[in-house]
Amino acid sequence: MKKPTKKHSANSWSNWAGAQTCHPDLILRPSGLGELTEAVGAAAARGGQVTAAASGHSFSGAALTEDLMIDAGNFSGVIEADRSSGLVKVGGGTVLSDLNRELDRLGLAMPNLGDIDTQTISGAISTGTHGTGADLPNIPAQVVAIDLVTGDGQIRHLDAEATPDELRAARIAIGSLGVITAVTLQTVPAFNLHRVDSPMELDDVLANFHELAADNTHFEFFLFPYTRKALTIRRNRTSRPAAPRSRFESYLSDVVLENGIGDIALRWSGRVPASIPKLARFSGLVMSQAERVDASHRVFANYRTIRFNEMEYALPREAGPEALGRVLDLIESERFPIGMPIECRVVAGDDALLSPAYERPSTYLAVHQYRGMEFAPYFEAIEEIFDSYDGRPHWGKRNTQTAATLAPRYPEWERFQKVRQKFDPNHIFSNEYIRKILGD
Ligand SMILES: Cc1cc2nc3c(=O)[nH]c(=O)nc-3n(C[C@H](O)[C@H](O)[C@H](O)COP(=O)(O)OP(=O)(O)OC[C@H]3O[C@@H](n4cnc5c(N)ncnc54)[C@H](O)[C@@H]3O)c2cc1C
Repeated sequence: MKKPTKKHSANSWSNWAGAQTCHPDLILRPSGLGELTEAVGAAAARGGQVTAAASGHSFSGAALTEDLMIDAGNFSGVIEADRSSGLVKVGGGTVLSDLNRELDRLGLAMPNLGDIDTQTISGAISTGTHGTGADLPNIPAQVVAIDLVTGDGQIRHLDAEATPDELRAARIAIGSLGVITAVTLQTVPAFNLHRVDSPMELDDVLANFHELAADNTHFEFFLFPYTRKALTIRRNRTSRPAAPRSRFESYLSDVVLENGIGDIALRWSGRVPASIPKLARFSGLVMSQAERVDASHRVFANYRTIRFNEMEYALPREAGPEALGRVLDLIESERFPIGMPIECRVVAGDDALLSPAYERPSTYLAVHQYRGMEFAPYFEAIEEIFDSYDGRPHWGKRNTQTAATLAPRYPEWERFQKVRQKFDPNHIFSNEYIRKILGD
């Protein structure tokens, strides 16, 4: 085997939140397909375990391994772009912020994105990363072809015409089918978004939830437990010209106010949990009206430095308001010390075999706990509510599910397992988390 291009000296890896760590025998950043197939082949021959790890923005243990960790960072950038059809092929390790800038230069954009842009395209699609929009599906639904190196050592090209089932499996596979080296995306012409943030009474948001979701291309809201206030965020397409914020404005709003002061307050609340309801009520009071117009990718992405742990579930769309009411009642009756908001988004159904929104328009509810603070009792209590709606977990976020509890919630579970058996018969692309959620 050739010498690895890059071996992290300490061979230790941790996720963004800092709560998932591992010590791989080798972290390999292959320089190209030859080195990648050789490394995967050698791992398969010795019965090893491999994961592809990207930006580490998953809260679950999806990317952990004690054996071989592949970093696909050298497979990055735009490979081919057809401006007339909007089809763009990019390296699997491309970071979303780089992708967005490249697309912008081509006069193109992703139709929908999540709320940060530091993940890679492969990491984002592999866990079913989504934004918000009643009629818009998640990011993997924008994928029309995938190139990957599978556990049987083959380089495969999957597309909707020749290999439809395999593509539907690989769009969201939590790294279990192989290492993605390229992704072809269906992009749209570049567009501007008008974002309006408005505080509202939570009861009004819940009573008008479906109208708000239908009337805005991208609707979401945040609410702080112990308040009855929500911060609604509406993003709509506009023909108005972009008016980007100055560096100073961005710094003041994102770094100092949102993240800096928020971090200090949360750190304080971690030391004095009894202060949390007061802190939450204060956060409810300082939510303010704001608006801006800018290129879509700059309006989608937020700057996040406050570290936390998160659990998020996709529920049937219509169950969203009722489930959220139950979550709030539980937090308040159990006095859980939660100083971070709950996020509520909507997503259209899609057909990826393991999509949390598989053939089901969904409401996504996400709960967060500040880093270093106990999250398990809170998340597990809330998870029981999500279970009662046949909720499907975001694969990149905390959950306590097993293959046995998940299989009945995914109508195409067996079809996915057949593709997994074909592409990775010895399950080398596995780890503790994958074995738990997908089975041995
Ligand atoms: C601050 C923050 C904000 C977030 N916002 C959102 C949001 O708005 N919406 C949302 O849905 N999620 C969100 N997430 C979750 C995040 O988008 C997902 O967890 C995503 O998978 C992270 O991508 P990554 O590049 O960091 O991949 P990693 O976390 O490193 O890996 C994720 C999975 O992808 C697999 N993978 C990575 N690269 C490859 C490859 N080349 N080939 C095959 N498999 C691969 C890994 O094996 C693993 O299973 C957020 C996370 C954070 C920390």
